[in-house]
Amino acid sequence: MTIRLRLTLWYTALLGTTLILFSVTVYSSLAANLRSQLEQSAATQARNIADAVIQQVQGDVVVIRTSADTVFFPQVELFASSFGAQLIDINGEVVKRSENLGDIPIPKQDGTLQHILAGDDDHYYFISQDGDAFLVYTVPLVINSEVVGAIQIIQSVTTAVTALTQVNRYLILGTAISIILAAIVGAFLARRALAPIDTITETASTITRTRDLGNRIDIPDNASEVGRLAGTFNDMLDRIQRLFQAQERLIGDVSHELRTPLTTIQGNVELMQRMAATPVGNGNIDLKAVAGLFQESLGEVQAESERMNKMISDLLLLAQADSGALQIHMAPVEMDTLLLDVYRQARRLVERYKGRTDALDIRLGSEDQAVVLGDRDRLHQVLVNLVENAVKYTPEGGTITLSLENKDGWVKIGVADTGIGISMEQQEFIFERFYRTDKARSREFGGSGLGLSIALRIAQAHNGKITVASKLQEGSTFTLWLPEAHEASGDAQLDLKNTVIV
Ligand code: ADP
Repeated sequence: MTIRLRLTLWYTALLGTTLILFSVTVYSSLAANLRSQLEQSAATQARNIADAVIQQVQGDVVVIRTSADTVFFPQVELFASSFGAQLIDINGEVVKRSENLGDIPIPKQDGTLQHILAGDDDHYYFISQDGDAFLVYTVPLVINSEVVGAIQIIQSVTTAVTALTQVNRYLILGTAISIILAAIVGAFLARRALAPIDTITETASTITRTRDLGNRIDIPDNASEVGRLAGTFNDMLDRIQRLFQAQERLIGDVSHELRTPLTTIQGNVELMQRMAATPVGNGNIDLKAVAGLFQESLGEVQAESERMNKMISDLLLLAQADSGALQIHMAPVEMDTLLLDVYRQARRLVERYKGRTDALDIRLGSEDQAVVLGDRDRLHQVLVNLVENAVKYTPEGGTITLSLENKDGWVKIGVADTGIGISMEQQEFIFERFYRTDKARSREFGGSGLGLSIALRIAQAHNGKITVASKLQEGSTFTLWLPEAHEASGDAQLDLKNTVIV
């Protein structure tokens, strides 16, 4: 069942129930009111006649019992137009009737005599053969505390019944018309309210059909619930589109990045195959030189394989971070100690990239003490990456300064170099995957442009960030910002330990 139909049905059912309840209440209170008015007026008439009869017989009970002729029915004709009256004895036998009754019979009803003998009033309604409705009201005739008979009033209630039937008919008709109107209006309103959902469905199916993620839902009323749904849907589309584009870019970048080392490996393998195919008996071949060439080719194959291996591990790590599966084991980390470790490692990096340890001057700047809550290995990885970059992009004779500042709740670890620097325009992109200001130079050092994006993801996983300040030909300063861990000591430190997945 569609929501539109469901809403219409609910709306109609609710309004219908309310109207029916209202009609039933109106009708029953009107009927009860009318009945009580009719019964009260009949009771008064009957009592008046009873009083008049009692006065006439002046306590002579026998008069009532014996002769109808001795009792004069006073002025009952006065009410002739709407009332008729009769005097009955305690056996229910008619003793006297008012003239206007003629010989119209008043049907008896079980229980009337019991009520009368008990001294109570009694009343009932009946419908005559002509279809007219009548009320019969009976009051006991009490003389000297003894019930000697009763006065019965018969009154036509046809007008009241007709009026009630009319009211009933109008109420039923009104309710039925209102329910039909409610159904029509409800269907219209539901259609109007849900129309934007059709737009959303259409847009979604167009996107599925045409695979064009650039489509957006155009709903002007942003404040309504459906408008907000459309807004959320559009935001989601933005995100999916960005992810899709990023994925396409990534696939392009990865295949491009992998092609370069693969081509080198292929070239070297082919070279070695050719050398191996050359007949050994040829006196012109310098075996030592061939062995050297083999060595060189194998070295290149190994270096490129390592590069590919590292790139794949880096990509895996980034994919884990993207999918929320990167594990970070949180524990208090003394950043000053960690910085000293990295400082010592920096010398080895200088040797690796520049060939000798004294090619660059590695210094320690401000050395505050600081504890952060984080994953020591991952933070170590970030700092080594920053130092490695500083070493790679600083020419011989340059200086690299490591510093640690603990201020305003932030622990800031700076890696400053006097290297080639990064232009303002390029600073914007260096944290993007595979971005390198100078591809050739980066490749020369085995870089793939993934280091900074990984470092940034790790910093973010620690609720931190990485900022860069740089000037071309003057140098760069990368700063890792981490929130300082709140004071903790002894056992309390253990409580800080936990693992988060980012
Ligand atoms: P790579 O593996 O190429 O070093 P990164 O993601 O670590 O990749 O760095 C991205 C790019 O940012 C580098 O290719 C380089 O152009 C630039 N870069 C990073 N650090 C420095 C630095 N200290 N000095 C100059 N350029 C840098």
